[in-house]
Amino acid sequence: MFVTSVTVRVPAKINLQLAVGPPRPDGYHGLVTVFHAVSLFDDVTVAIAEADSVTVTGEGAGLVPENGDNLALRAVRALRQAMARRAAGAPGPLGASAAVDAPGGAGGVAVTIAKRIPVAGGMAGGSADAAAALVACNELWGAGLSPQELCAVAGEVGSDAAFPLLGGTAVGRGRGEQLAPALVSPVDFHWVLAFADGHLSTPAVFRALDKQRARREVPEPELSNELMAALRAGDVENLGATLSNDLQEPALTLFPALRKTLDAGLEAGARGALVSGSGPTCYFLARDPAHATDLAVALSGAGVCRSVATAAGPVPGAWVVS
Ligand code: ATP
Repeated sequence: MFVTSVTVRVPAKINLQLAVGPPRPDGYHGLVTVFHAVSLFDDVTVAIAEADSVTVTGEGAGLVPENGDNLALRAVRALRQAMARRAAGAPGPLGASAAVDAPGGAGGVAVTIAKRIPVAGGMAGGSADAAAALVACNELWGAGLSPQELCAVAGEVGSDAAFPLLGGTAVGRGRGEQLAPALVSPVDFHWVLAFADGHLSTPAVFRALDKQRARREVPEPELSNELMAALRAGDVENLGATLSNDLQEPALTLFPALRKTLDAGLEAGARGALVSGSGPTCYFLARDPAHATDLAVALSGAGVCRSVATAAGPVPGAWVVS
C-alpha cells in the first residue's frame, strides 16, 4: 500500500537528575542527567506535499515557529541530508559502510503538530517533535534507518532530540545526547505536572547558573548512585528524596513564583518536588494514581500554577500510531 501520511506520538520528558558541570570551551555545559519519559504526548503527522510546511495547533501553538526554524522541519532536513550521504556512501552519522539506494525524501512534507507538551516549559517539547518527525519520515519514505541511525541524526538536530526516540528512563551524558538506558524496576511512577503561567528560556537559565557560580570551583557532574538505587528498587520515598536539578536555583531566581508552587505540592504530601529541566514546569511525585489525583486537586485549588496534569512514567519513546 502506498502511504501518504504517517502520525507519530511522542512523550515529554522530565529530568530526575540534572547535574551541570562547568562551561566547556565550546560554550556548552557538560551534563549528567537522568531522563524519564512521561505520559504527556505531542502528535506529529507528516504527509507527502509539494513543498515543506509546518502547522502547529494546541497548547502554546502561538509560540512555536511555523517556518524552517521549527525543530520538526529541521529534523526533516537532517534526515534528508543523512539519506543523501548514505546514498553517496559518504562519511557521516550513518557511516560510509551503510551505502544503499536512497528510497525517498524527494519532494516536500506537510508537518502538522498537535501540541500538549508546554512550549518552553522544560519538558523538551520541541526536541520531542523533532524525534517524532524523524520516525514519521523514516516510515513515510521507507528509508529503513535503524533506531541507532535515527538517534545519530537526532543528535545533529539537538542535544535533547535523541531521548524521545528511546523513551523509558535513560542516563544522558555529554550535552545530554550520549544516552544509555537505565536499569529500573518495572513499576510505574505517578507524577503531577504543574504548568506555569509563563516561560523560561533554556540559555537564560544556564546564564543565570553561571552567574550564581561565578566565584566557585565547579566539579564535573556525577550520576547519583542513590537515585539509581531508588529507581532499581522502585522505591518512591527514596526516589522523591534523591531528585535533583542544578538548574532549579537559577530557574527560581528568574521565576520566583515557582517556589510557591513547589511548597504547595510538598505541603499537600508530594513525596518529591522539582523544577523540570530549565523550567518553569514543576513536577511532583505521588505514591500511587489516587494520591496523584489528590495532589493535582490540591495544587489546582491553591492557585499556584496555570494548570495541572497527572502522568505516569516511564513510557516508551516515539511510536507510529497511524
Ligand atoms: P528543553 O527542555 O529541551 O530546554 P523546552 O521544553 O524548555 O526545551 P521547547 O518547548 O522545546 O522548550 O521550546 C524551546 C523553543 O524552541 C521555543 O521557544 C520555540 O520557539 C522553539 N521551537 C521550535 N520548534 C518547536 C516545536 N516544534 N515545539 C516547541 N518549540 C519549538
